[in-house]
Amino acid sequence: MNGPLRFVPYLRPMVWGGRRLKEVLGKSLPTDEPYGESWEISDHSSHQSVVASGPLAGKTLRQLMEEDRAALLGRGAEAYRVFPWLIKFLDARDWLSVQVHPDDEEVKRLLPGEGGKTEAWFVLDAQPGSRVYAGLLPGVDEERLRAALAAGTVADCLHTFAPQPGDCVFLPAGTVHAVGGGVLMAEVQQTSDATFRLFDWNRHDAFGKARALHIEEALACIDWHRGPVRPIHVEDYAASALQPASPGTKRKSLVSCAYFKLEFLYANEPFEFGGEGRLQVLIVLGGNGRLATDAGEEEAKLGQVWLAPAAMRAHRCRPNGGLRALLCSLP
Ligand SMILES: [Zn+2]
Repeated sequence: MNGPLRFVPYLRPMVWGGRRLKEVLGKSLPTDEPYGESWEISDHSSHQSVVASGPLAGKTLRQLMEEDRAALLGRGAEAYRVFPWLIKFLDARDWLSVQVHPDDEEVKRLLPGEGGKTEAWFVLDAQPGSRVYAGLLPGVDEERLRAALAAGTVADCLHTFAPQPGDCVFLPAGTVHAVGGGVLMAEVQQTSDATFRLFDWNRHDAFGKARALHIEEALACIDWHRGPVRPIHVEDYAASALQPASPGTKRKSLVSCAYFKLEFLYANEPFEFGGEGRLQVLIVLGGNGRLATDAGEEEAKLGQVWLAPAAMRAHRCRPNGGLRALLCSLP
């Protein structure tokens, strides 16, 4: 594991998805259906990512975890049975259900074998009318939320805002949330598929059936002290795509939690990726550049996700104009 690794994306059709994983991010969608998710890096049992290029092409992330976990994760590698993050792109053309995820403790009781799920979103594009729901409005307790569930008015209990490109939304486990109406985003989360649906917008399918809800589990997970969640915004995010500023790199810290550290990176001069003795992932959000790899130089471009193993020495990335990315690091 001497160089940066890129994996084959796992593309998932979803009723609430669209076509922008292809149109904006350049993913090749195998069918004409709507696609909701592209799993870029996953060690979850439902899909294990495969290395796309270089000397390790064809190996799964699970194999890398089993063969050389210390080289991959660095210090504290023993603490991780599975790779720490699941990294995705999401195209929420329609509405995702109102949901909540358990934390590391609650999940042991409610869904043994799964992990807790703290997540962060970064908005790449948002259509008019799209919304994010995140956190409870002040004064909402279990009694009020149960009444709203019975009346089908759960949205009235939630903080909501119109997302903008450049918004980062941090959702610790236990935060009620939903998104939809045309939001394209990158997501970093703990490796987990533990989701409890609280409310599905009173929707029914063509046969008059509603999707299963998990109300009691969801209520048990909610952090009742988590009030409105407001986005952390990267100023000039949209403009930085167009005009390379004076030469330099700009970094802005977005999230720092027990599971990941997330930064926004803008660079229009060469910068070093990896080599800090800890696991890092670069999620390219805009622009492109040339990244040194084991197989020579490869293009790093919008929609790609690169992993720097902890043991890797620094590799140079040379942007072509301006490159915008998220940098995720193991704390
Ligand atoms: Zn979620």
